[in-house]
Amino acid sequence: MRIVTHVNEMKSIADEYRKEGKIIAFVPTMGYLHEGHLSLVDIAKKKGDVCVVSIFVNPIQFGPGEDYDRYPRDVRRDERLLEQRGCDTLFYPSTSEMYPEDFLTRVRVEKLSNILCGKSRPGHFEGVTTVVLKLFNIVKPHVAVFGEKDYQQLVIIKRMVRDLNLDVEIVAGEIIREKDGLAMSSRNVYLDPVEREQATCLFRSLLLAQDMVKAGIRDTKTIIEAVNDFIKNFDRARIDYIKIVHPDTLEELEEIHDRARILLAVYLGGARLIDNMEIDVP
Ligand code: AMP
Repeated sequence: MRIVTHVNEMKSIADEYRKEGKIIAFVPTMGYLHEGHLSLVDIAKKKGDVCVVSIFVNPIQFGPGEDYDRYPRDVRRDERLLEQRGCDTLFYPSTSEMYPEDFLTRVRVEKLSNILCGKSRPGHFEGVTTVVLKLFNIVKPHVAVFGEKDYQQLVIIKRMVRDLNLDVEIVAGEIIREKDGLAMSSRNVYLDPVEREQATCLFRSLLLAQDMVKAGIRDTKTIIEAVNDFIKNFDRARIDYIKIVHPDTLEELEEIHDRARILLAVYLGGARLIDNMEIDVP
């Protein structure tokens, strides 16, 4: 596996790949890799001829007082995991390489960036779209793979690609979970043993919503109230939001007719966890 730390070198490698007629499949990450990230590498390897993974903890997507400084990092371990999984090139730039002192530009997808997670994390998605567009220009992928774990991010990136006519296909990977249902996340290391146990309330509450729909309930207010009451039984959990939305537009639904997705964010101690699930309508 090639390890590249400079933007110009990564661009030349991408040019070489393209000259050789190779399909570049790209997986952007913030590192501290787990099976969720590695499942995206598997998808990338199927979709392309060469797989490029980036590891970059992007400072501009963290708000003041958020966990940028303590975000877990272990690039040596990440390198081993990527090598084993068959990644061809790891792009691992420094912060100053990505953001020289005179950096001024921001990319913003209106509306979609201010709702759900964007409400409690102002500026977060602007930081995400800015770094993802930069990474696309550096890695020059034909295909980029994103996890459904960050569902709002996936929708926003698809919209950016469409609105800005970018020549990259966005592919979604399903959420990979621990045995007890907790969605894998680099941030799960923040949880103490009690919080870790209570963290299953996210997945279990999504199943509860799913069951209610299966039982014929279509009114989202009733479902959200039940999910809210369920999570309130866990004393370490504090709900940020619970919403049922249209999967493409993220518009809140009053009634579930055909396609819908439930999204939630819950604080457990010092960690802010997110999860979501497609709602199958029988
Ligand atoms: P991150 O390192 O948290 O920025 O995540 C990098 C990519 O991995 C994003 O596209 C995430 O949606 C995806 N991802 C993170 N956790 C999971 C998971 N449990 N299952 C599937 N994809 C995931």
